Amino acid sequence: MRVLLLGGTTEARLLAGELVADHDVTVSLAGRVRSPLPLPGTVRVGGFGGVDGLAAWLRAHGTDAVVDATHPFASTMTAHAAAACALVEVPLLRLQRPAWSPVTGDDWRPVPSLEAAAEVVAAQGDRVFLTTGRTGLAAFAPVDRWFLVRSVDPPEPPVPRRMTVVLDRGPFTLDGERALLREHAVDVLVTKNSGGPAPKLAAARESIPDLAVSTDIIVGFPGETDEDFEQTLQVVAHAEFDSAYTFIFSPRSGTEAAEMVDRFVPHDVCVDRFERLRAVVERAGRRKHAARVGRVEEVIVEGPSKRDASLLTGRTRQNKLVHFGSAEPIRIGSFADVRVVDSASHYLMGELVGVTARPRHRTRIALSVG
Ligand code: NAP
Repeated sequence: MRVLLLGGTTEARLLAGELVADHDVTVSLAGRVRSPLPLPGTVRVGGFGGVDGLAAWLRAHGTDAVVDATHPFASTMTAHAAAACALVEVPLLRLQRPAWSPVTGDDWRPVPSLEAAAEVVAAQGDRVFLTTGRTGLAAFAPVDRWFLVRSVDPPEPPVPRRMTVVLDRGPFTLDGERALLREHAVDVLVTKNSGGPAPKLAAARESIPDLAVSTDIIVGFPGETDEDFEQTLQVVAHAEFDSAYTFIFSPRSGTEAAEMVDRFVPHDVCVDRFERLRAVVERAGRRKHAARVGRVEEVIVEGPSKRDASLLTGRTRQNKLVHFGSAEPIRIGSFADVRVVDSASHYLMGELVGVTARPRHRTRIALSVG
């Protein structure tokens, strides 16, 4: 049987491998990828020239059957294949992957287009893994976020200003996807719902969304060299902690470090290192907080702000301080949605959206038994 297999997908490649033993298979590629993987059977590359072009090709090649194994988002080709096969009365099989569906715990934002994805992505996080292919990158070019872009061929402008490109092609593995998400500290995944095996979804599901990381750092521990300190700075700059509690070493009696007097770091050196460290810590804090402006955060209300008693203070799920106003008093322990409107390195400023849950205090009822 002469089979035309419309490809460009892993399934098409696998199916071609199965069919070649018994059939005369031509695999057709659109030509989007510069050097496609070797394929079994005869390979032709490039469009057919619409429905009529494909119909003519089918007639000219005496095709007995067509298998449309194109990507679920290649809708034009799928429509053309259906029309052309109907025209020349050649049977058509559409290889369709079931779409993915969300599972419990997933946080999906379904969008109708790449442009719509670009509009919502900035509000979701600031390290975005884009797996929608290089041809759709222009939609994300104006978005001020860092992008990890994975594509088979290098992308061409317009592209996002802050971007790392990984040139790779599937199929991908769960271990590989995990490592990629971890290495690049990805917090948002943008993907087409193309169905099929999805290790990237499995890897994303394992990660804790919107995790904030804090740490404690001491400078001037006895024996700390300039080089040690530079390495600390590098780690802190790379880790981009949400916040860090920073201290200058002070000896505590009874500890080994307190005995290391001959290795104490001079105080002025400690102060200088401390200030440099603080600048790096605060830079990351400011950046992380600025990225939250515009978001609505769930906060637990802690009471009046210590800075300004006319404001309330709450903590987000990341333990970030938010100061916000409320016309009505809100009981401590209430949960409220607060829109972040401004940020500093150590706190956020917000506007109350609404109280979502009141605290459930137990009331003791006096009981007298006569
Ligand atoms: P599309 O919008 O549906 O098709 C546009 C035009 O490209 C078609 O009208 C056709 O040109 C030509 N074409 C598409 N697939 C072809 C094929 N297999 N063989 C020969 N010509 C083809 O397609 P697309 O979204 O640009 O995708 C192009 C290819 O990349 C497809 O083969 C698809 O399987 C693969 N792919 C697409 C995506 C995606 O997200 N869209 C992802 C992974 C792989 P003529 O009208 O001139 O015949």
